[in-house]
Amino acid sequence: MIRTRRLTVVCLVVVAAALVAALVHRLPKASSSSSSPPPSAAAPSPPRGAAPHASRSGHRGPPDADDGVVPDGVTVFDDATAAVTKLDPGLLTALRRAATAAADDRVTFFVNSGWRSPAYQNQLLREAVAEYGSEDEAARWVATAVTSPHVAGDAVDIGRTAAADWLARHGAAYGLCRIYDNEPWHYELRGDARDHGCPQRYADPTEDPRMRR
Ligand SMILES: [Zn+2]
Repeated sequence: MIRTRRLTVVCLVVVAAALVAALVHRLPKASSSSSSPPPSAAAPSPPRGAAPHASRSGHRGPPDADDGVVPDGVTVFDDATAAVTKLDPGLLTALRRAATAAADDRVTFFVNSGWRSPAYQNQLLREAVAEYGSEDEAARWVATAVTSPHVAGDAVDIGRTAAADWLARHGAAYGLCRIYDNEPWHYELRGDARDHGCPQRYADPTEDPRMRR
């Protein structure tokens, strides 16, 4: 009797210990699966979203390829980069025709910048103001999101030097014109240029009436 009682007690203790162990083992699991996700999911995202681009609805983090940031080595024939694919179709067609001809001269048209989102343009303007020290000086180089022909998809900054040189000599035949004296890389489509040559250039964007909107 005493032995069986002891055995029973031992068994009960073992069972109880197992239950406790099981509970203890489960409790953290249960609490981690039910209560921890909200804090861990909520904690990183509000600061990230609220930080530099709080004003940009539905977009988090710094500008990326979807904003028109261009990875190294992208040419006018790229079909996957927004900076290229979101250019005005007429401009892109002219660029590709010119680039095809330039390839015979072993010249490649790289895209340093093309279409840009308003958010990306605004960041470039903020950086230019910081770099040049004033909004007036920055305006010589970077337009606002409202006035920039890049945001409209109407402008491309061509690299590298050989391509810009090729366009300076042959671009007009394709309707591709340099617009500003201070930006030998910046080209836009001017359909009349094929027959009448490119219009007179502005010294810099501050002379461009389109910048005064
Ligand atoms: Zn440009």
